[in-house]
Amino acid sequence: MEFLDRLLTCADCGGEFIFTAGEQLFFFDKQFKNDPKRCKPCKSKRSGAALKTGTGPAAAGLSRTETRTECSACGIETTVPFKPTQGRPVLCRQCFQSKRAPTTGALVTAAATAGMVAGVGAEHNAASAELLATAQTTQA
Ligand SMILES: [Zn+2]
Ligand SMILES: [Zn+2]
Repeated sequence: MEFLDRLLTCADCGGEFIFTAGEQLFFFDKQFKNDPKRCKPCKSKRSGAALKTGTGPAAAGLSRTETRTECSACGIETTVPFKPTQGRPVLCRQCFQSKRAPTTGALVTAAATAGMVAGVGAEHNAASAELLATAQTTQA
């Protein structure tokens, strides 16, 4: 799975903003189905009302939270732009990319294989049913 920067239109100000590959990766990882609707300024304007009176400008400016963690595959120390969920494997950039690259992508291959198996399975079942019917006719 390869992510490319995409241009989206903000639902609030109508301006264009970039949905970066990194953000898409984040969304993909979190299994968010919907694209972001608003540009960063509008988003922070919406959620920033409280921040303005509260914690100050630093909190509003920090959109990325880098968390230090260990790669589940190679054990290297890495940072991820999200909070790792307990029990879920976290991969360093390299392992992540080698896992998702179309050529060696285990996920892509697995998905494709699953699709193929499902397709073959359905066909196979139909064939077996037909065979069974034939056998029964022959027997009777
Ligand atoms: Zn906007
Ligand atoms: Zn790794």
